[in-house]
Amino acid sequence: MQKILNFIDGAYCEPEKNIWLDNYNPSNGEVYSKIARSGKTDVAKAYEAARSAFPIWSNTTIEDRSRILLKIATLIEKNLIPLAEAESRDNGKPLSLAMTVDIPRASSNFRFFANAITQFASEAHESIGLNTMNFTLRQPIGVVGCISPWNLPLYLFTWKIAPAIAAGNTVVAKPSEVTPMTAYLLGEICNEAGLPKGVLNIIHGTGPEAGQAIVEHKHIKAISFTGGTKTGEHIARTAAPMFKKLSLELGGKNPNLIFADCDYDKMLAVTVRSSFANQGQICLCGSRIFVEDSIYEIFKSDFVEKVKALKVGDPFKTETAMGALVSKTHLEKVQSYIALAQKEGGKILFGGKQLKIDGLEKGYYLEPTVIEVFDDQCRVNQEEIFGPVVTLMPFSSEAEVMRMANGVPYGLSATLWTSDINRTMRLSKQLEAGIVWVNTWLNRDLRTPFGGVKNSGVGREGGFEALRFFTEAKNVCIKYE
Ligand code: NAD
Repeated sequence: MQKILNFIDGAYCEPEKNIWLDNYNPSNGEVYSKIARSGKTDVAKAYEAARSAFPIWSNTTIEDRSRILLKIATLIEKNLIPLAEAESRDNGKPLSLAMTVDIPRASSNFRFFANAITQFASEAHESIGLNTMNFTLRQPIGVVGCISPWNLPLYLFTWKIAPAIAAGNTVVAKPSEVTPMTAYLLGEICNEAGLPKGVLNIIHGTGPEAGQAIVEHKHIKAISFTGGTKTGEHIARTAAPMFKKLSLELGGKNPNLIFADCDYDKMLAVTVRSSFANQGQICLCGSRIFVEDSIYEIFKSDFVEKVKALKVGDPFKTETAMGALVSKTHLEKVQSYIALAQKEGGKILFGGKQLKIDGLEKGYYLEPTVIEVFDDQCRVNQEEIFGPVVTLMPFSSEAEVMRMANGVPYGLSATLWTSDINRTMRLSKQLEAGIVWVNTWLNRDLRTPFGGVKNSGVGREGGFEALRFFTEAKNVCIKYE
């Protein structure tokens, strides 16, 4: 059986303790590879490799770093099919999604930061009267840690690694233990692209063991983390006494606000996608749909009609719109929320059942689920479910919908459907979210800041924000006569 090995100092290696985790294929529930279950000693070894590589990498010219990143981007493109197949097999997502979104975006992450770093110049200003010239040196931090989740495996893993190494840092990174495969394949690609050994080190294993060891390592000075809010809180507690720099991209409970004056057909098509893309396992999925009461009934029936037509099945088949959920544990968690919704007075308008797909009976398939729940404060409307489950609720005024939209502990993204520019401006300002999409969803320009407010996180990624996070700003003040 294939082994997912650590990648340290440019070479694949077994975990020190020779302990392995099972890696499941969610589409058929079978174990198909073994994952290195790493711990402190493996992280220490990865740190040493990263520390040794830092002096040379941080002094490598921007042009050379940029050239290597571009080469990684090109090699990801060249390996689109094997990488997409690996991602789909590991995660359960439709192969078509991995081919058109996940893997192309991983390549774009390297291409984008290869270019961005060449534009990332220091600022300078003269303090007239004080006879000083000030400039800001942006220096790489040193060895940094990058920890990512399972929902967009290579997409989010590279979203951290690319800016970290572009800025001259060296990295100890850990992908999710649920979806380690494409991160494993990235090591080989980096070697082929000529990334010097030790610049990127990839450790596999569980969060409490390998992840915790990265966060606890006293010389790993910054942690870029994407994952659940509870884990983020735990990481912040661990890292705070060591004064580590932290970027935390956490969970969401995103509202979708639909006004009667919107472009209805466009809204309907996009709302189906924003609810169920990647089986609803995108932190940006709109999980609470608020619809103005004059169009509520018609929306309800049109939406359910469209959702019924979504084909759930084998991720490798081209007609599949929704594949398998990522794991048995996650499937059970999502199912428990569907049961809870009914206890809380919710009415299932469609879905709710596990599906058995011919030939893949042990896979983790769930119907796309639409629930009408009128209480915006019940748990189903307050807690992140992170699966193919959305709730519907009518509203009668802007004030009412804003109270409900903002009335959750999260603040990652919000989507607004309206043709009224004044409403757009008013509500965009009032929405408690790091990202507001108006008449669109998941439209990402990599130059824009990305992140959440409230329990959805601290800090921003994307564009120069990411390069700022992965550098320390130093003021140099020169006195002249
Ligand atoms: P998770 O928090 O369980 O795990 C994320 C990563 O952290 C994994 O690699 C895991 O091994 C590691 N980890 C777990 N415990 C750790 C610890 N004590 N120390 C260090 N690392 C640890 O999250 P998940 O279930 O993999 O992902 C789903 C969550 O991620 C959802 O809440 C989702 O909203 C969130 N997410 C957020 C964004 C965003 O950009 N805001 C993007 C994608 C996913």
